[in-house]
Amino acid sequence: MKIAPTTMISANPIRTRFAPSPTGYIHVGNVRTALFAWLVARQAGGTFILRLEDTDKVREVEGSGDHIQRTLEALGLDWDEGISIGGPHAPYKQSQRLDHYRLWADKLIAAGRAYADPYTVTEVQVFREQAQAAKQPFLYRNHRPGGSGQPAMPSSWDGSVPLRFKSEPQTYQWHDEVMGDLHAGVEAIDDFILIKSDGYPTYNFAHIIDDLEMAVTHIIRGQEFIASMPNYLNLYEALGIQRPLLATMPHVLGPDGNKKLSKRDGAKDVLEYIRDGFLPETLVNFIASLGWNDGTEQEIYNPQELIDKFELGRVQKSGARFDEQRLLWMNGAHIRGLSLDELFGKVTDFWPEQAASYSPLYRKQVLSLVQERLKYFKELPELTMFFFVDLPVNPELISSHKQLKKYDSSALKVLLEQAQTSLGQSDFSLTDLTARLNGLLEQTGEKPAVLFSLIRIATTQAASSPSLADSLRVLGRERTLARLQCQLDYL
Ligand code: GLU
Repeated sequence: MKIAPTTMISANPIRTRFAPSPTGYIHVGNVRTALFAWLVARQAGGTFILRLEDTDKVREVEGSGDHIQRTLEALGLDWDEGISIGGPHAPYKQSQRLDHYRLWADKLIAAGRAYADPYTVTEVQVFREQAQAAKQPFLYRNHRPGGSGQPAMPSSWDGSVPLRFKSEPQTYQWHDEVMGDLHAGVEAIDDFILIKSDGYPTYNFAHIIDDLEMAVTHIIRGQEFIASMPNYLNLYEALGIQRPLLATMPHVLGPDGNKKLSKRDGAKDVLEYIRDGFLPETLVNFIASLGWNDGTEQEIYNPQELIDKFELGRVQKSGARFDEQRLLWMNGAHIRGLSLDELFGKVTDFWPEQAASYSPLYRKQVLSLVQERLKYFKELPELTMFFFVDLPVNPELISSHKQLKKYDSSALKVLLEQAQTSLGQSDFSLTDLTARLNGLLEQTGEKPAVLFSLIRIATTQAASSPSLADSLRVLGRERTLARLQCQLDYL
């Protein structure tokens, strides 16, 4: 029996929601549904809602609601209504909406579409085991009270036992904006729990009530809920309400491409990437590209381009593989796209400690040399340390070098002395240094892989560095010559 007239959801204004459960941090796989819901709302000039689904008190992890908010904030995914800011449909935390669920539950009870579960947990478990032993799918409704040989259908519900939905099994066909046309048979429909004996609603019930009351137009969520869709369709009907549009996101797969990305595979907290110096705009770009493209070859997008180009219909049906190497590459590309001043402003907290005593001008020069190669900011100390600290001579850099290990010390000494003499006369401008380094190649008859590597090692004590002439120019005359001398003394 329908209990209210069917209302039509108008496609406009678009209202989407992200509805996480506070059960821990959110990784890139989880945050993708938030991003897609945000993009759909922003593109349409609609509303993006952040709702906290905190009704599973057993799985709740303290502090994770705040953590989720900080994650969205860090990525620039701002919400228009929801937890911490409120809005016309407040509260946005399910644990504070129990009276709303109770109200709708009472309507279902009055319409004969919900009933008090007469069985104990143990009894239900026995039914389940019996079904398993008979190799039958377990359906609670086969034991529904009121049937022959079953307990009588309870006439009221006092909240001390679970409240179950009285389903009306039927086959369904429905459309999903991503997965296409789907269908399911009657076996997918059962009498699921609406409200548990602890007074909290199940996700299955609460999200339907909240989406209705919050006038959500699009449900954008993960694949794990698709099997329950027939039950939800049955409940929408029982409530006499029109459902929102559905868009089911395929899983983000772990690096091996086989199974769903999980915390166990090392799927990191999104905030950890921010702490490591990944740009929020890279993370947004990367997460959007997990299973979506705009049909062109373009890979690098800024958030506004994503808002302009995103289409739910272009989200792939199959799982997208999480590839951290691609994230590194993408972050490097976004870093290269920044002006030096922009980048300088963003890396403030990532310099090695020793850089503190150097002028901003010097640090900026150093930064300009590593911008090309920097993949995330936490690498900055490793890439730039030698600009700030005189590192001790590391003999391994020569003994393990493919070319240099073939030379004996005296031959290397001769080369370094020649370098010292020529560079000693340089004004340390880039032009002069370049000319002198090339001159040294001619003078010594050595290849760059030998001569430049030797000078690079002596002056940086690092396995790699930006272009040699550039590095020497920034290091300056005094430091360069002193370091050449140190290496000579060692040899
Ligand atoms: N609370 C559900 C979860 O965290 C949200 C599912 C939905 O978006 O409806 O998985």
